[in-house]
Amino acid sequence: MELSPGLHRIECPIGPRYVAVYAIVGSKYTLLVDTGFDDSIRTTVVNYFKEKKLSLDAVRYVINTHSDYDHTGGNKAVRELMPNALICAGERDRPMIENLNSMFFDRYNEFEKDHGFAESKDAKDFMMTVAFETNVDIGFAGNERIDLGGRYVEILHTPGHSWGHVSILDEKSRAIIIGDAVLGNSVLLADGQPAFPPTYRFVEAYRSTIRLLKGYQASEILTSHYPRYVGQAGTDFLDLSLNYTDLIEQICLDTLKRAGKALTMMELIEIAHDRMGVWVDPAYKYLAYPVLGHLEVLESYQKIKRSKNSAGLAQFQLA
Ligand SMILES: [Zn+2]
Repeated sequence: MELSPGLHRIECPIGPRYVAVYAIVGSKYTLLVDTGFDDSIRTTVVNYFKEKKLSLDAVRYVINTHSDYDHTGGNKAVRELMPNALICAGERDRPMIENLNSMFFDRYNEFEKDHGFAESKDAKDFMMTVAFETNVDIGFAGNERIDLGGRYVEILHTPGHSWGHVSILDEKSRAIIIGDAVLGNSVLLADGQPAFPPTYRFVEAYRSTIRLLKGYQASEILTSHYPRYVGQAGTDFLDLSLNYTDLIEQICLDTLKRAGKALTMMELIEIAHDRMGVWVDPAYKYLAYPVLGHLEVLESYQKIKRSKNSAGLAQFQLA
């Protein structure tokens, strides 16, 4: 749908969820934010462009907000169907976007060795059927400004969910497209029900990102997996997300205190996930992302300390 003149939101189905892809249309160039799965570009986006009489040839910039395959999976289809497109992303996310194997082993399976939480082979096989990689043409650091023909966008570095995550400020509408930079208290299914935990990973960066975004007082906050948040609803979403980080950190600390012994990350999650959200097995296990992030913060403030259990897994206890 066209949210405001020249600003489009295109919801692409990805199983029981959707990923919202955005297009900003200037007089000269069109910018596309995120590429979903391969089929999102080939079917949903191409059909939408046809219906709205938008030109695929005018697409000049295609920005991946971050290195997750539901945001980059259509990159190869972009190469084939949008001949003038330059694929862009935050520079620090480039290696994983250009190489899905690296995305899988360095991002999704980062918890295997030290924390005993591994993705299944099925998950990798699935990823490889819906996402196809290509090279990234331009790496952003943040603070770039792009002219679409009398219409400007600014690139904001918004790390936390990944290190290279970028958001896009549309100067005309003052809307900010934030991808997965901020994730509320749950990622949602298409019907609005909780899907899995907010998978932020780098907690202090995430908190700074939320504060940064609040400072812009955006006309609306446009995410990938949540409804439109216009005006005050955007601020409320940012506040909810920030408060959630404090809640999870407190629960991590409380749980270690009550246990009175060292716990591995997954032991802590098994004990405490009911207090963190309402996700079912195995969705709650993705609390690994924020929980490890918070354990690292608590460790850095010397509130907890890390050791190894007999199986060689990291375990945590009060310092
Ligand atoms: Zn996502």
